[in-house]
Amino acid sequence: MSCANNPAIANFVEYLQIPSVQPNINYDACVAFLKKQAASLNLAVTVHEIVPKKPIVVLTWTGTDPTLPSILLNSHMDVVPVFEKSWTHPPFSAHIDKDGKIFARGSQDMKCVGIQYLEAIRKLRAANVQLKRTLHVTFVPDEEIGGHDGMMKFVHTAEFKALKVGFALDEGIASPEEEFILFYGERSIWQIHVHCTGKTGHGSLIHLNTAGEKLRYIIDKFMDLREQQKRILESDPKLTTGDVTTINMTQIYGGVQSNVVPEKLSVVFDMRLAITVNHEEFENMIKQWCREAGDGVTYDFEQKNDKVDSTKLDAGNPYWIAFKAAADELKIKLDCRIFPAATDSRYVRQVGIPALGFSPMNFTPVLLHDHNEYLKADVFLKGIDIYVKLLTAVANL
Ligand code: ZN
Repeated sequence: MSCANNPAIANFVEYLQIPSVQPNINYDACVAFLKKQAASLNLAVTVHEIVPKKPIVVLTWTGTDPTLPSILLNSHMDVVPVFEKSWTHPPFSAHIDKDGKIFARGSQDMKCVGIQYLEAIRKLRAANVQLKRTLHVTFVPDEEIGGHDGMMKFVHTAEFKALKVGFALDEGIASPEEEFILFYGERSIWQIHVHCTGKTGHGSLIHLNTAGEKLRYIIDKFMDLREQQKRILESDPKLTTGDVTTINMTQIYGGVQSNVVPEKLSVVFDMRLAITVNHEEFENMIKQWCREAGDGVTYDFEQKNDKVDSTKLDAGNPYWIAFKAAADELKIKLDCRIFPAATDSRYVRQVGIPALGFSPMNFTPVLLHDHNEYLKADVFLKGIDIYVKLLTAVANL
C-alpha cells in the first residue's frame, strides 16, 4: 500500500491541509474534522467554548473504571505563520515526496501528535482492548500565541475539573538522534521593560545624570549575567538551554530627536528563568541594579510567569514509572530535559497535574516554526505504535 493510501496517513494529511494558521484562526474546519474522527472512532465528543470562537474539543474514551483519575492527551490545533515563498511545496498541501517526507506546517508542531493519539486509540479499539482509565483527547486553540484563550483558561473551569485528570501528555520536540526527547518541566518567562530617566538638554553638552548613562549600566548588568549563563552552558556538554537562564535584549526605545538628550530611554529583555532560580532573589537583584543605575530607573513586566513545579521523574510519580517501563519495553531511549520555550503543559502543571512533553519523532531534524517543516511517514506511523504501548501502560495503571 502506498503511504498516501494508509488511513492514518490520510487522516494526518487531511488535518494538515486545514490552514489553522495564526493569527485570527477560524477553527470551524478543525472542529468539523475532529467530530468526524470521533464518529469514526465511536468516541464521545464535546466542544467547550470558554472564549467565543476558541473551541476546545474533547474526545473521550471511557475506561472500565471511570472513578480513577483520567489521562489527558493534549495537542493544539493552531500552527505558526508561514513564509510561503521559502517552501519547496505549499505549506498546506501536505505533499508527500518519494522519501515519504510529509511537508506541511504543523507536521511536527503538532498535528502529528493529535492524530497519533487518535490512531493509537483506533488500533486499541480494533483489537478490542479495554483500558482501565478514561482517556480524554483534547484539541486546544491558540497555543502558539500563549494559550491565553485556550489551555490557560480551560484548566480553571468546572468542565476541566469534571475530566478528573490525573496525568497529561503534551508536545515535545523532534530529535535528530536515535534518542527521544522528553520534557518534564519548563522555565519561567519574564519579559521586562526597564525605564531610565534623566536630565534632558542639548545634544552638544555634557549633562550629568542622563538616561543614556543609566541605560548603559542596566544593559551591562543584564548582559553580564547573560555571559555568565552562556559560559555555564558551554562548560558542560550535558547541559541544554533549558538548564540555564537565558537573557536576550529584544527592544530599545525612547528619545525624540538626534540632538536632544532624552528624558527617557527604555530597554526590554526576554528572560527565561531556569527552574533552579529563586524568583524573589532574582527580582531583588534587578531592583538592586536599578538603584545602582541612578535615580529615576524603574521597571515593569510585560510577562512574569510564576514558578511552576516540574513533573517528578521518580518513584513518587506512578504515571512516570508506568511510562518509563513501557518505553524500556519498546527499547526507546529517553533524553529527559527542561523545555527551553513554553507549551500548554505549564498550565496543566500549574494546577498540580503531572505532565510530560513527548512527541515521538526521532531521526528527525528540528523544523518546528521553520520553512519546509516535514515529518517522515515511517516515523509518524512508528509513533502510533509507541503511543499504543504508552497509553496502555498509563491508562492501565
Ligand atoms: Zn506546539
